[in-house]
Amino acid sequence: MLSGNEIATRLGEVRDRIAHAAARSRRSRDAVRLVLASKTQGAAAVRAAHAAGARDFGENYVQEAADKRAELTELRDARWHLIGHLQSNKVALAIRTFDTIQTLDSARLANTIARLRLSPPMPVLIEINLGEEVSKSGIRAREAAALIDAARDKVEIIGLMTIPPHSDDPRRYFAELRMLRDRLAASSGLALSELSMGMTEDFEVAIEEGATTVRVGRAVFGERPL
Ligand SMILES: *Cc1c(COP(=O)(O)O)cnc(C)c1O
Repeated sequence: MLSGNEIATRLGEVRDRIAHAAARSRRSRDAVRLVLASKTQGAAAVRAAHAAGARDFGENYVQEAADKRAELTELRDARWHLIGHLQSNKVALAIRTFDTIQTLDSARLANTIARLRLSPPMPVLIEINLGEEVSKSGIRAREAAALIDAARDKVEIIGLMTIPPHSDDPRRYFAELRMLRDRLAASSGLALSELSMGMTEDFEVAIEEGATTVRVGRAVFGERPL
C-alpha cells in the first residue's frame, strides 16, 4: 500500500485535475463528487484518504465493504456507495452498509430493496451497459424507461451510472449517457440529477461531458494488489 502521505498527495492531484476539468467546461467544482473506489484497499488506506479530506468511498463487494466499515467506525461522516453488482441475497447487508446503491439493474432487485426499506426509500442509480457487453452488468439503454416505471415507487432513483466499453474515445459514451439521462428525465418527470461516470483513465473527459460523480481508484491508491 502507498503511505498516507503519498495517498494525500495523489488525492490532491486528482482534486486539482477535477477542478480544472470543471473550469474548462464552465461547471462549478462543487458539482462534481469524487468517490474513491476503495475495493481491495485496506482500512488503513481508506483512513489515510479520509484524513486527507476524502468523504465518499465506492465499494464493489458488499461483505468487503461491511467488514471495512466495521473497522472504520470512527469515520462517522464517510459516505459509502455500492458500485459493484448487487445480488439479492446481499440486499439486507447492503442497505445497512451503503448510503447509495449505484448499480440497480432489475425491477426484482428494486422490489427486494423496498421490502426491507421503503421509507425513506433507498437512493439508487440505474447502471446502464452502454456497450451491451456480456461481461458487464447493467441494463441496456432501451430498457431503462421500463425499469424506471417499475422501480420508481420502490426506491429513490437519483440518476444513471455506467462503465463504458474500453475505448480510445470514451467521450461519446459519456455524452450518450448524458443524453439518455436527459430523455429519461423528460419522459419520467424525475430529476435524475446524478451521472456517475469516469474512472482513473478518463474522469476528466467524463466531467467535461457532465459527470456529477467520478469513481477513481488507482489514481489515488496506486495499482491494486492482485
Ligand atoms: C474499480 C472501479 C472503479 C475505479 O477504477 P480505477 O481505474 O481504479 O480508477 C470505478 N468504478 C467501478 C465500478 C470500479 O469497479
